[in-house]
This record gives sequence, structure tokens and C-alpha cells, in this order.
Amino acid sequence: MKLRSKTSHTWVYLIWAVNGIAILCLLGGAVVYATNQSTSAVADFPTRQFTPTSNAAPTSFLLPTLTPNPFYTPYVFETSTPFILQNGPAPNVIGYSLAGRPIEVYTFGDGEREYLIVAGIHGGYEYNTISLANELIAYINEHPEVIPGDVTLYIIRNMNPDGEARAHGVDGRVNNNGVDLNRNFPSDNWSADWNRDGCWIYRPTTGGLYGGSEPETRTVMSFVESREITALISYHSAALGVFPGGVPWTQESKQLAKALAKATGYPYPPIDTGCVYTGTLADWAVENGVGAAVDMELRDHKNTDFAQNLKALRAFLSFIP
Ligand SMILES: [Zn+2]
Repeated sequence: MKLRSKTSHTWVYLIWAVNGIAILCLLGGAVVYATNQSTSAVADFPTRQFTPTSNAAPTSFLLPTLTPNPFYTPYVFETSTPFILQNGPAPNVIGYSLAGRPIEVYTFGDGEREYLIVAGIHGGYEYNTISLANELIAYINEHPEVIPGDVTLYIIRNMNPDGEARAHGVDGRVNNNGVDLNRNFPSDNWSADWNRDGCWIYRPTTGGLYGGSEPETRTVMSFVESREITALISYHSAALGVFPGGVPWTQESKQLAKALAKATGYPYPPIDTGCVYTGTLADWAVENGVGAAVDMELRDHKNTDFAQNLKALRAFLSFIP
């Protein structure tokens, strides 16, 4: 028994010794590992190289990035010029531009005959048309009697708010896709491109991917389609006169153009520069149920010709095709 007891003790010591060595090895390993980790972190961090994987982030997956896209407008101002009508009706938002700016309509009167004025289709390049719309809105708000009892007048004061926000000048004409909105309506003669002889040539532009491809265009289209518009004025500048809608010009639109030319003194027939107009709002409108439509150009790119256009407003609202 004594011997056996001694043998048992020996085994116990042996096992504990092995356990102790194993624990020491683990601790030692842990210490070595921790030391290596911290030294490698300290050693690596300041010298680690972050090498770029490409030269630049892609800006568009649809358009080439090697050369600047001439139809894309790189600089956009924060907001278009705000218009706030004091003590008057709030406008209704009927759609949004490419950049998400609201397209608004002011409504005056609630009669059966519906008339529509659209300004700012060529944005900041024809900024004075927006100024004129603002002046008309403020005037009608103070003189509601200007609207006959059986008339409703809608004024879209700025159809191209992105262009207007971009610049007051040639760079402010097109929308943010580089599209000329007055060539983007799906009229019978819509065309992406056209012969530039006699036409506006100061910046590259197109009629869009297809007629009605632009949100600004579709906003005005659905507004017109949801109503029965008797007559429409699309304001422009400058100087060429009053263009009747229709290809060829419709009788009703010619009648309206004559009445407006008489009120304003703007040229009619309009000055022919040889330019062929495609996809215009006025042409599309008369092809789609609007009684009569015109493109009317202010005298220059600066003034609103308010007095003449107030006379034109009276002639417009009493016009029945
Ligand atoms: Zn224009």
C-alpha cells in the first residue's frame, strides 16, 4: 500500500507538471502573439499606402466621361429666382423639372372658357417672359375684374426653372438635358435635330430623345390634356413677332395672332429668318385640342412691354375661335 501510494503521488505530480507546462506555453504564446500584433500595427500604420483603384469616380454610366458632354450643364445655381405673390392665391405645383424644381400654375377666375399663358419655356435666356408673367400675376391679383366672368386663366410663369436658375443669358435656354423644350413637344413634325440655317445656334441643343421626352414638357402636356383650353400664348423673346400654331398655321391661330399683334404692335406675319420650327408647344397644342395657339415674342430680352401685354391679355381673354 505504501509503495502504491507513493506511485500515485508521483503520477499526480507528473500530471500537474505537464498541465503547468502546457499553461505556461499557452501564456507565453499569447504574450508573443500580442506583442507581435501591436508591433506590426505600429510598424505598418504610418507607412501603409492607399493606392487609388481608378483615376476618378464615374460621373455617369450613360454618357462618355473622357470628353465633357456639351449637352450636360455643369454649373447649376442653388435656386431659381423665387416669386412670392403677397396676399394672393398660392400656385399649384403641376410637375417638376429634371433638377426637381417645381413647375407652378396660377389660376384666376373660374369660368368655363379656359385660357393658358406659358412663360419661361426658354428659361433664363428669355428671362423677361418670366418677369412679364410675374407682373401679370401681380396685376390680375389686384385687378381681378380683368378676368371676364366666364373665363378661367392659367399662368405657368416658368416652364424651365432649371434653365432660369442656371443663367440669365444664352446658357439658360435649355433644360438640364440640353434639350430645347420648345422643340420637344410630340407634334407631327417633332425632330431630334433640324437644319440650323436661320435658327438659334449659340449653344448645342437637341429636340430630345423623342417628342415629350422631358419632364418639363410632359408637365405642360398633361396639364393641357386634362383641360379644354380655348387659347394659348407661349411667350418668348425677342423681336420676331407673333407665330400662329399649326403646320400649316391654323385659321384660328392666325386670327389670334392678328388680334395679339394689333394689341401689342409686335410683327405679324412674324419675321421669317428661314428657321424651321419643329416640336413647338403651339403646334402640338392645336394638334391636340387647343382652339388656337401662338408663340409671341417680346420686343427684346430685357423689357416686359407690360402695357402692350396688358392690352394683349384683354384681347386674348375675349378671343373665341
Ligand atoms: Zn424662345
